[in-house]
Amino acid sequence: MEVDALYDKKVKCPICSKEFITKKMRTSRIRIDRVDGDFMNYYKSENPTKYHVFVCPKCGYAAMESNFNNIRPFEKEIIKENVSSKWREREYSGVRTDEEAIQCYMLAFYCGQLLNLKKLDLGNIALKIAWLYRGKNEEEERRFIQNALELFEQAFYTENLSDTSMDEINIGYLIGELYRRLGNKKEAVLWFGKTVSNPLIKTNPRIEKMTREQWLLAKENENGE
Ligand SMILES: [Zn+2]
Repeated sequence: MEVDALYDKKVKCPICSKEFITKKMRTSRIRIDRVDGDFMNYYKSENPTKYHVFVCPKCGYAAMESNFNNIRPFEKEIIKENVSSKWREREYSGVRTDEEAIQCYMLAFYCGQLLNLKKLDLGNIALKIAWLYRGKNEEEERRFIQNALELFEQAFYTENLSDTSMDEINIGYLIGELYRRLGNKKEAVLWFGKTVSNPLIKTNPRIEKMTREQWLLAKENENGE
């Protein structure tokens, strides 16, 4: 990996006020090789996903960069009581191995559950953990796909998705694809069908194409493995 593809970002922890360094990847250095059906990118360069979680070395608070500072006073107390009190100081400020990146996401998932983040956000964290396990640990990958799937279904039915990057077309497709990956073809076909018959599909030709392709794939294999 080219080390200068990463740079240091200084961050201030909203819980304990500690300033620390975390790595980020230069957008110009990201090289995507190919993409899986569930949007997981494979990179020719270092994988930027590994650095999307910030972890405070002093108090253990961890969150996705986009949520890191969104914290209310009573939530600080929740983290102090449940995380910081048990935390042994350790750092994730350097280049992260896949294993370290998984630890960072696990911490963000734990903090996110304590803070009652939106199901969509928790689902995204779980899905990224599944991606980090892909090709390395199938059992753990499946466990986190299952987790993500449950959270995305709850988000689909109970959360307002209109102001997120995941509208009901994207998430409907993704739920179908995650079912397909788990081998549940019946549910996969159901969700792909639901997604293509949504009038909003016309606003997103890329997802429409992906949905039709994966729908066919799931239907072809519906009666056998
Ligand atoms: Zn902190």
